[in-house]
Amino acid sequence: MKVIVADSINQKGIDNLKEVAEVVVDTDITPEELLSTISEYEAIIVRSRTKVTREVIEKADKLKIIARAGVGVDNVDIEAATEKGIMVVNAPESTSITVAEHTMGMMLTAARKIAIADKSVKEDKWEKSRFMGVELRNKTLGVVGMGRIGSQVVNRCKAFEMDVIVYDPYLPKEVAKQMGIDLADLETVLKVSDFITIHVPLTPETKHLISKKELEIMKDDAFVVNCARGGIIDEDALYDALSNDKIGGAALDVYEEEPPKGSKLLSLDNLVATPHIAASTKEAQRDAAIIVANEVIEVLKG
Ligand code: NAD
Repeated sequence: MKVIVADSINQKGIDNLKEVAEVVVDTDITPEELLSTISEYEAIIVRSRTKVTREVIEKADKLKIIARAGVGVDNVDIEAATEKGIMVVNAPESTSITVAEHTMGMMLTAARKIAIADKSVKEDKWEKSRFMGVELRNKTLGVVGMGRIGSQVVNRCKAFEMDVIVYDPYLPKEVAKQMGIDLADLETVLKVSDFITIHVPLTPETKHLISKKELEIMKDDAFVVNCARGGIIDEDALYDALSNDKIGGAALDVYEEEPPKGSKLLSLDNLVATPHIAASTKEAQRDAAIIVANEVIEVLKG
């Protein structure tokens, strides 16, 4: 049996695969080369570079499984794969801790003005009074979306002695009770929280979930963090709220357009910005490779 690894993944995943199959690692493969060779393979592993299009899938006569070593599967034509009976798998759980830790970093960076303080010291300044911060302890954390990542953020924020309130209409009340968390509607969460963190997928329902009206409901010193998907927060409304001190600050890892070239948000001191790196750790990449390699092995073994 033959497996093609078309984008670079952690070596541990490749080693595991080699125990059951011939593994071809070709991380520079072009779309044309993939099209002409895909019929040789039972499995393909990709990250985000390689596009597994309908055209590729139609030529993939032996293919049993398409594995994405990561979270989204935007680069795989799932409809075409399903029509051909090819399984598509990913590893959404591989990044949960990594994204939760980044979220903590974003909260602390915003609360303690770490990024702008760092910039100031490197400019040879010593502006101690400019960087008065706030503690996380005894503050209320509002979580929007209590899934894999949201619940890991909650665990960490409890260790920081924060109170937690959650908006997630799909989380059953009994599950919330078992987790020891309070559920509330979005308006209440926005009204009472000092830190609001977003962990929902981007869907028609969550597009601009946080817009002008929601930002107006928030406390004047509240912080909002988005390490989920661009588009959940309306960036024009966020710019107005931040530049008029309607909220205390924001921290974004994701943007409506990436990169957010020319975005007026980037001129603001009360915005912390990272370039969609919340999931980027060695551990998350290793785990993604191991998880999808195991899935491929299961399928190849039948
Ligand atoms: P998940 O599916 O485990 O959890 C999502 C939660 O959101 C679920 O509990 C669901 O009930 C809830 N939800 C869905 N629609 C909702 C709505 N309209 N209002 C409130 N809650 C709603 O997902 P996850 O693994 O925790 O990931 C969360 C998000 O983080 C995903 O959108 C994912 O794309 C994003 N993410 C970003 C990065 C990054 O690099 N920045 C990396 C990984 C994941």
